[in-house]
Amino acid sequence: MKQIVFATHNLNKLAEIQPLIPGGLEVISLDQIGCVEAIAETATTLEGNAQIKASYIWKYFRCDCFADDTGLEVQALQGAPGVYSARFAGPEGLAEANMAKLLTLMKGETSRRAQFRTVIALILSGNSYLFEGVVAGKILEEPIGDHGFGYDPVFQPDGSELSFAQMTLEEKNKMSHRARAIAKLCAFLENIGAN
Ligand code: IMP
Repeated sequence: MKQIVFATHNLNKLAEIQPLIPGGLEVISLDQIGCVEAIAETATTLEGNAQIKASYIWKYFRCDCFADDTGLEVQALQGAPGVYSARFAGPEGLAEANMAKLLTLMKGETSRRAQFRTVIALILSGNSYLFEGVVAGKILEEPIGDHGFGYDPVFQPDGSELSFAQMTLEEKNKMSHRARAIAKLCAFLENIGAN
């Protein structure tokens, strides 16, 4: 079976994506190719970080691969925290602290439009492709719900009365930024018969 590397050490992400990938193509992790190092995400854009990770794998391992990067982009904060979403409140990357900082900055702000955006960089035989998934919504006044992770309790997608953290994983996956980017990646792989 042909293999494609997902440039992540996160086995949950890997498990989430495998069922969506066209048949005949097996998704494997960085650990499975012996890449144990954390690839530094030093770019200032989501596209840049996704490309850094995919290019690293192609350069040092010569494997077909893809990498993702996600950010929460808040209009009233000129797109912040964006590419810095994971460590918005400090290097520890604590979700509670990140949300608290966001809500403090948004206190009294009436314009609460925001979007989650995922970018996937794919490298196949040395050729690069980018895919994007976006979900628009608003930042809530307070965290609500206890499912999910990251900023889920403070984000309510358009067309829903629930925050992402009040949804089941299945409900969130029907509309999430990541699911939309992955769907584009999968459609592309299916189309070119990558398996
Ligand atoms: P990553 O690129 O997938 O590691 O995401 C970077 C950061 O964005 C995470 O650490 C979270 O803070 C945030 N994030 C990404 N995806 C989601 C999501 O689906 N819900 C809430 N927060 C997310």
